[in-house]
Amino acid sequence: MEVLYSSTRGGSIRVKASEAILKGLADDGGLFVPDHIPALDKSPEELAGMDYRQVAYEVMKLFLTDFTEEELKDCIARAYDSKFDTGEIAPLAEAGGAYYLELFHGATIAFKDMALSILPHLMTTSARKNHVKNEIVILTATSGDTGKAALAGFADVKGTRIIVFYPKNGVSPIQEKQMVTQKGGNTLVVGIHGNFDDAQTGVKKLFSDRELAAVLDGKGFQFSSANSINIGRLVPQICYYVYAYATLLREGKLVSGEKINVVVPTGNFGNILAAFYAKNMGLPIGRLICASNENKVLYDFFRTGAYDRNREFVLTSSPSMDILISSNLERLIYRIAGNDADRNRELMTALTRQGKYEITDEMKAALSDFYGAYADENETAAEIRRLYQSCGYVIDTHTAVASAVYQKYVKETGDQTKTVIASTASPFKFTRSVMNAIDASYDSMEDFELADKLSGLANVAVPPAIEEIRTAPVLHHKQCDVEGMKDAVLDFLA
Ligand SMILES: *Cc1c(COP(=O)(O)O)cnc(C)c1O
Repeated sequence: MEVLYSSTRGGSIRVKASEAILKGLADDGGLFVPDHIPALDKSPEELAGMDYRQVAYEVMKLFLTDFTEEELKDCIARAYDSKFDTGEIAPLAEAGGAYYLELFHGATIAFKDMALSILPHLMTTSARKNHVKNEIVILTATSGDTGKAALAGFADVKGTRIIVFYPKNGVSPIQEKQMVTQKGGNTLVVGIHGNFDDAQTGVKKLFSDRELAAVLDGKGFQFSSANSINIGRLVPQICYYVYAYATLLREGKLVSGEKINVVVPTGNFGNILAAFYAKNMGLPIGRLICASNENKVLYDFFRTGAYDRNREFVLTSSPSMDILISSNLERLIYRIAGNDADRNRELMTALTRQGKYEITDEMKAALSDFYGAYADENETAAEIRRLYQSCGYVIDTHTAVASAVYQKYVKETGDQTKTVIASTASPFKFTRSVMNAIDASYDSMEDFELADKLSGLANVAVPPAIEEIRTAPVLHHKQCDVEGMKDAVLDFLA
């Protein structure tokens, strides 16, 4: 059955998957949502006999219904190949009584690679299918990991250019070095004087600037988005939850149909929304545990039903979760409002104008699958240390937020359901925070020295993504204020 996509903010326009991927954001500023969530048409046993690519096909074919089998399989084969350092693509590691779903084996060692290694292929295939003549310009705001993963995905992909804005003082030194050393004549990286929300708001403004769109069209360009609002990112993220379940079943860790809980370290709400979609496809998932760092706007929301971004923005050791406006939450709000675009638009307008909104009790009742909790900086560091000391397994700061939240959840509820924790970055991406958590005396060491030390402690080789930037020259120096973003785009495309 065909799946069509409409905007969370209204209108009767329904577009095909390929059109939604090309546009990124709907014209009215809303997010594209599927008109229904398709049910998995393969049993858990059948899925357990498949490799990652095969599972990915079984999931994606149900959402991207205007892609032919050949097109989709070709995109999947190009994405999930030797760019990943393991054939499993998303392996599960058992440690301390939980299963860590390692989503960081791709080119930039963070989970964004799972979707951004396939998005360029979905996008160029979509352009071909829709007879698009313009060059596609990917415009992205990043809190650190999306930027590099998108750059790695799109660099030198014919018919595309990519522009990445990041908060100049809001990403880790390694994240910044990864981005500013990016090669590829079609890439531009710009540091913003502001935080991630400023960068994201600026990008949204550029997207909805009709005048700018007309100027660019005249020059043969059109914007698209690689941010997690693009359904071309959301859909590939559903696959690894299905794959994780299939893996546990194959390894005899579950009986068929047994429910699992999922814990996701959350920022923009894309990863956990993918888990929610997986559950709604029929995957046996019980609780969706939403883990926040000290920017705990989501924890407060799940507890009280009030979303309020009017608070201090905290810079933490898990910068990819330092977010006060979780864009993808809009898709969930739309759904619990009964797919009512008018109601959703009112709430999103309130968020823009007053920085807050409150949902009804009825909507709140529809959130019972979710459990929100948070971990502060001390709890996060303590969790890294605890897991390392108890089983020698080293996790990054984002994963540690999720892991600490899981400990709290079990303590509070006594729930013994088997649990998958989304492990969203390699510890080598946040080496200093990770090593400091294990032993503060490491702080005097240089970044790369720390990486070598970590390699010894964790008994894991330093990933190529880190080796590469040891000596790579800085190729991007541009910085600007939020007001200067438009000119930066126009300069690059002149
Ligand atoms: C992006 C990111 C997150 C947050 O994921 P969302 O989909 O934005 O909620 C968590 N951890 C890491 C390492 C990330 O890069």
